[in-house]
Amino acid sequence: MSDEVNEKQKLYRDARVTGKYDEIWQSVGKCVFCDLKDKYVVFEENGIVMTIVLFAYIDGHVMILPRRHVRSVKDLTPSEWETMRKFMYIAKKLIRDIHGVKGMQLVEKEGSLAQSTVTDHLHFHCIPFDGPDLSVWNYRTLKNTPLENANLYKAASKKITKLSDRFEEKYKNED
Ligand SMILES: [Zn+2]
Repeated sequence: MSDEVNEKQKLYRDARVTGKYDEIWQSVGKCVFCDLKDKYVVFEENGIVMTIVLFAYIDGHVMILPRRHVRSVKDLTPSEWETMRKFMYIAKKLIRDIHGVKGMQLVEKEGSLAQSTVTDHLHFHCIPFDGPDLSVWNYRTLKNTPLENANLYKAASKKITKLSDRFEEKYKNED
């Protein structure tokens, strides 16, 4: 490997902790996940890809995503979803066998507030989980008790039925 390549690889490796990550991504215009680099792709089947993450959170971090640019899990076909499910299983086993970490955290975010600043191309992070420090939750002070929350959602039962019907109508794919 040339010195230049080596330096770039180290830059990627360290970017999350040096703060370089934010600088690097400011100039990106196109969808980076539509343009995956073969050298980082670990496995591919049925339009689903397992790839190394350029700016990993922890050693062993991989990503599972469809080649197709879709924004949500609801856009996946049953067959793509089934392949994803298998890839999640494989990722967990690889993380255990290669990195000796028995836990895996799956992270996928949807919606404009939650989505990646880089792209809205659906992707699941498969993050080795060996301690809670990578996913510190800042718990909020709650207004609702569990029962109050249950009642709020149950009161929306008509809405739930409607959404269920709508999903069957709009997004259910036969393949
Ligand atoms: Zn894309």
